Amino acid sequence: MKQQEAAPNLAKIIATVGPASAAQSVMREMVRAGMDVARINFSHGTADSNLELIRAIRKVAQDEGKPLAVMQDLQGHKLRVGLLPPEGVMLREESLVTLFGGAEQAEGDLIPVPSTRLAASLKRGDRLLLSDGQLELEVLKVEGRRIIARVLLGGVLKSQKGLAAPSAENLYEEALTDKDKEDLVLGLEHNVDFVAQSYVRTADDIDRLRTLMRELVPDTEPPGIIAKIENHAALTNFDEIMAAADGVMIARGDLGIETSVSALPVTQKELIAKCVVAGKPVVVATQLLGSMVSQPRPTRAEASDVANAVLDHADALMLSDETAAGRFPTRSVAQMAEIIGRTEAAPIKGLMPGFDSRGESVSQAVAAAAVQLARHVEAAAILVVTKSGYSARSLVRFRWEVPTFAASGDPRVVRQLTLSWGVTPLLVEGYEQPVDMSRAALELLCSHYGVDRGARIVVVSGLNRPRGGYDSM
Ligand code: PEP
Repeated sequence: MKQQEAAPNLAKIIATVGPASAAQSVMREMVRAGMDVARINFSHGTADSNLELIRAIRKVAQDEGKPLAVMQDLQGHKLRVGLLPPEGVMLREESLVTLFGGAEQAEGDLIPVPSTRLAASLKRGDRLLLSDGQLELEVLKVEGRRIIARVLLGGVLKSQKGLAAPSAENLYEEALTDKDKEDLVLGLEHNVDFVAQSYVRTADDIDRLRTLMRELVPDTEPPGIIAKIENHAALTNFDEIMAAADGVMIARGDLGIETSVSALPVTQKELIAKCVVAGKPVVVATQLLGSMVSQPRPTRAEASDVANAVLDHADALMLSDETAAGRFPTRSVAQMAEIIGRTEAAPIKGLMPGFDSRGESVSQAVAAAAVQLARHVEAAAILVVTKSGYSARSLVRFRWEVPTFAASGDPRVVRQLTLSWGVTPLLVEGYEQPVDMSRAALELLCSHYGVDRGARIVVVSGLNRPRGGYDSM
């Protein structure tokens, strides 16, 4: 194992890889700048190009000796307009336009919308938002496949731009599209660590994805499911969705269109607080450093946005276009890492949510006691031996800033823990008993992670029972 830097940032960085960062040299720089998790957005690219990205990430992680999780983000039911002339179509304010459901190509003045269910899901007065909400229409009437609407906010509409219909219901039955299922097979074949599910509405959507993954790979533990919260239904059913998923992404791009953008900052805080208490990794996504797609420095507002997500106690902050398609992918990661580092080093700390520990699991109770113990004895570090990662996540939910190391013999679990706030995951292979594993891990802390021999370290580890594993002791 290579020598690693001591005291890394506590909040983690997810960087989306894409054309701007497909070269291994760029990915390597991004890892060195602070990327912890690589996300691949399956809304873009082909199966071949996305597979190339997975292979490149694995190679770079191996060369760098750093665990790096791969997050496969499935496209889901993203509504788009169809093909328009290359120059686009000018939608003038107060003019009337007609959208044509179930059509891929423009015909005359009709704006094509491939969805076959959109027209039937709309009623007079509903709003349609196009192009990331830059254009807005009000539905006047629906005649069969034709949607007649008034332009409230005008501008040029280009081919295949996103379309949001916040009040439309029953736009789709099954959360996964055929494309998602094909992409999922590719992801599972190549052992991705997380699957991010788009447009989740209920806990059932998560359960169905998990069941499908278990059917597709019956002999292995499927990847963790990250529920993307990006519509009204997901907010309404948030508690059940969070309980069913392995993590949550606050997908502010779509959420800001589907719901009110002015409610987003408070929604972000509320959702993060719930996830922190539950010990579920929570990601703040989209436009954190948006201007760095084309500029070498972020705006002041973006720097504040990153710092606020840190003060809110998010597990991870995500870069999208900045690293996938922007001009400054490595700089964006480095800039984010710098703001995170500065914010974490400051004496000001964000408010912690209240914990009600009644009825929690044994692992959670042990984790709470370990944090107290570490506080009392002013421990230099906590070491947790973990089989599934659950014990480690239970520990760091208290966001206590003592270096926390999580040792596991499972490379997938080690990679998954790169998403969790404050955890330095360690791969310690070849030991049956947790006590032997913790001894080996302690040795590693002293030899590679700058922990002094003789320092006080709180060790949390269970017994390796034949059933149930040691996480649930
Ligand atoms: C978002 O909407 O914020 C998001 C992360 O989703 P996507 O990038 O897939 O549109």
